[in-house]
Amino acid sequence: MGRNLGSKCKLCRRDGMKLFLKGTRCSMEKCAFSKRPTPPGMHTRVSSKPSYYSLQLREKQRVKWMYGMLEKQFRRFFQVATKTKGATGRALLQLLERRIDNVIFRMLFTTSRESARQMVLHGFVFVNGKRVNIPSYLISAGQTIEIKVKDNTKKALKETYDANTKDRSIAGWLEIDKEELRAKITRLPEKEDLILPVNEQLIVELYSK
Ligand code: SF4
Repeated sequence: MGRNLGSKCKLCRRDGMKLFLKGTRCSMEKCAFSKRPTPPGMHTRVSSKPSYYSLQLREKQRVKWMYGMLEKQFRRFFQVATKTKGATGRALLQLLERRIDNVIFRMLFTTSRESARQMVLHGFVFVNGKRVNIPSYLISAGQTIEIKVKDNTKKALKETYDANTKDRSIAGWLEIDKEELRAKITRLPEKEDLILPVNEQLIVELYSK
């Protein structure tokens, strides 16, 4: 799967809010958005009243960037959500949160979804004892997710976990065992479990045109 290789900080500046795409750097003074919270480019002009379409588009782009996805895959997730029982927007958010790379990120052993994705791709992640190396794999309630790495890496991951607990909350749908680098999915995630607020209805409206 391809991915966005451009500047992540520009995405935050374009969106007008911190999207926390670069791990520890995001909470440091070096954060580009903290230093310059204006849209990228030399002659940027901020419209005083954005159109409804631009609000829809921006919301979709923001969520897509947050989960490190490209348009084609994001749209595929939306198609799956439309076939799911219940409200499409909520189903879409649940599908995104169920991605294994997001789960590793929410387990607090990495500082960004990008590094969680790398961990999955390199084969360090196991679901119910079976290796999973596809970042878009969807977890289910009752499964056990485990990170298997060498002892010295284990120590580093536990330190990352400790650092992350200072400014990120533990997801209510995960039962985390820090010592074993393991988590049990106690239930499926809901909209209320997201880190950043999302107006999913705008995305549904945009794709339903
Ligand atoms: Fe966004 Fe700041 Fe993180 Fe860059 S460092 S990705 S601007 S939150």
